[in-house]
Amino acid sequence: MALAVERLARIGASDPAVAGLLALELQRQAETLELIPSENIASPAVLDAVGSWLTNKYAEGTPGRRYYGGCEHVDRLERLCQERAMALFGAEHANVQPHCGSSANLAAYAVFCKPGDTILGMDLGHGGHLSHGSPVNFSGMLYHAEHYGVDPATEQLDYDQVRARALQVRPRVLMAGASAYPRTLDFARLAAIAREVEAAFVVDMAHFAGLVAGGAHPSPVPHADLVTLTTHKTLRGPWGGMILCRRELAARVDKAVFPGYQGGPLLHAIAGKAVALNAWSQPEMAGYAQRVVANAQVLADGLRERGLRLVSGGTDTHLMLVDLRPLGQTGRAIQDALDRVRITVNRNAIPFDTASRFNPSGIRLGSPAVTTRGMGEGEMAVIAELVATVIRQPDDLRVAETVRARARMLCDAHPLPY
Ligand SMILES: *Cc1c(COP(=O)(O)O)cnc(C)c1O
Repeated sequence: MALAVERLARIGASDPAVAGLLALELQRQAETLELIPSENIASPAVLDAVGSWLTNKYAEGTPGRRYYGGCEHVDRLERLCQERAMALFGAEHANVQPHCGSSANLAAYAVFCKPGDTILGMDLGHGGHLSHGSPVNFSGMLYHAEHYGVDPATEQLDYDQVRARALQVRPRVLMAGASAYPRTLDFARLAAIAREVEAAFVVDMAHFAGLVAGGAHPSPVPHADLVTLTTHKTLRGPWGGMILCRRELAARVDKAVFPGYQGGPLLHAIAGKAVALNAWSQPEMAGYAQRVVANAQVLADGLRERGLRLVSGGTDTHLMLVDLRPLGQTGRAIQDALDRVRITVNRNAIPFDTASRFNPSGIRLGSPAVTTRGMGEGEMAVIAELVATVIRQPDDLRVAETVRARARMLCDAHPLPY
């Protein structure tokens, strides 16, 4: 905790209120089993880079073509980050400026579409993301958004149905990728569908970018016209987004990000992204992605063995969805019950859910953060037992007390790296 103590002391000297809240949140993270699949734990080096004086610098434009003076060092930094991203993912061009995954997606649409054009993405209720054309998101306000979903029987994508939908709506962009879909996608098949309907093929690998980086998931890069990602999920970097594309789209992508959607780049975040990308070439990161997937398998097996139903029957990735309907439970009650024992998950719709969006019928779980803390298959088997116990007896206070103590022991044995 040396790093955290030192930082808190410095912040506290000028602002005790903020330091106090940061300390409480640190304690919550330290004492909680984090199973939200979109979260992770950034390394101390990433934190230091993000907390640096690069936050002082304006650098609108791209390296070598800025609208501000004094950019000679940040130009080199941004280029270094781009080169690392291109090398890691085998891409011809990387724009590392998007502030988050959603703005990367908006820029991606702008590369191919005019307002009003049709985009085709996965249904939010079947695992898609708000930024794939939801009416409450700019993607759905600016473009005519159509959606495809999973097959009711398998709860997996049926590519014939995706093709039929694409032929019917003739999108300018076919968007693939999701927030709550536990299976790998057939990128070659989706690319062929996009080609057939003359759509651009965009893959949003926000969730599984780290698995691709570590070779534990097929890469969309050879198949897609353009790939967007977040850097704060499985990739273990700072909060942020990124776009990968072929050389011929580079200028259009850069223009769509700035001045299209953003002002100056967050250079401190770009420094953090560069540090996180570099970590993927270090020996200690080798195997992380494989462990994330193996740990998710153990968690899924443990839940299934205890009679819980997983959407699509399981997972190929780092995340899974539990259908709570067979137990007569709802997402909100179970999320709250797990919160009480310091296990964090998020309630989530499951395909064809008829319950309200605020209290859907499922929960979403994943392995990235606990794997980063060094937990392995033994710990995952225990976590499966704890989660299943709470799901079966969410209101039993004695059960909660025991589960909470056991969750705490796992956390204490695997401290945060701060
Ligand atoms: C997380 C996520 C995003 C982006 O999220 P931000 O919160 O905007 O960074 C985009 N697409 C998918 C599929 C995601 O899961």
